Amino acid sequence: MADLQRLAIARHQIDKQKVFLTFEQQHYLGRVLRLGVGDQFILMDGEGKWWLAKLTLDISGKAELGSVLEQEISIQNELPIELILISALPKGNNFDEVVRQSTELGVTQILPVISSRTLLKPGLQKLKRWQKIATEAAEQSERQVVPKIREVREYSVALSLFENENLCTNYHKYICVARNSYPLLLESLLDNQKLESIVIATGPEGGWTDGEIEVAIATGFQAVSLGKRILRSVTAPLVALSLVAAVFDGEKKKIYSNGDK
Ligand code: SAH
Repeated sequence: MADLQRLAIARHQIDKQKVFLTFEQQHYLGRVLRLGVGDQFILMDGEGKWWLAKLTLDISGKAELGSVLEQEISIQNELPIELILISALPKGNNFDEVVRQSTELGVTQILPVISSRTLLKPGLQKLKRWQKIATEAAEQSERQVVPKIREVREYSVALSLFENENLCTNYHKYICVARNSYPLLLESLLDNQKLESIVIATGPEGGWTDGEIEVAIATGFQAVSLGKRILRSVTAPLVALSLVAAVFDGEKKKIYSNGDK
């Protein structure tokens, strides 16, 4: 089973046992992976379910590939918490790496934000690209949940999404601040192991402004440190999420959530 290819599809592509594949997915399975009719692979709906599936010829008669679900696979590789990353957009294509690696580490939602010192204003195409990267990283890292990449928002708007909490009752919001004597994120996580949702905000290359840190604290975020070294804006989210994974991996509770607020 481990060596079977994995493909994430949208729920609406499934009709009873049949799965309609997009042209891109047909191309990927048939041409890129060179699977043939009758070959098995793993289908994931990105919302928690995996199935063993078999490639078929679609009944359309146009030699299109389809697929049938053979059996549901029971698997649990997710962290037991909802883990939301608010990340100020770094320069260039660096956010690609943040999306890819955060997905590997178990994030459930990523909110790209524009803060005062953000240098980049990405177009809509970027969102599609990031969602694709998240999907591929979820397939690769054998997750059941494909993290949702939310639309790019202004920093203050992103914070306000978490003001009237739509999160689980047991949540904590953190803002990572470099060059400060705030408590370590790890210490707070170890003190709060019953959390069900965690929101973590990390800043851009130039860091947060004092005003941005104040606004976050005023809306219930706790300022924390990731240690004495100054991490790059692409490294900080990975360190923060790794700490969460280290503390929460192995816990039993399970909350799937990557929906819109
Ligand atoms: N240029 C800034 C640092 C920005 S680092 C300076 O020299 O102070 C980019 C982001 O990574 C920061 O906004 C913060 O969110 C996070 N970060 C980097 N190092 C950190 C640390 N040691 N502790 C907490 N957050 C850190």
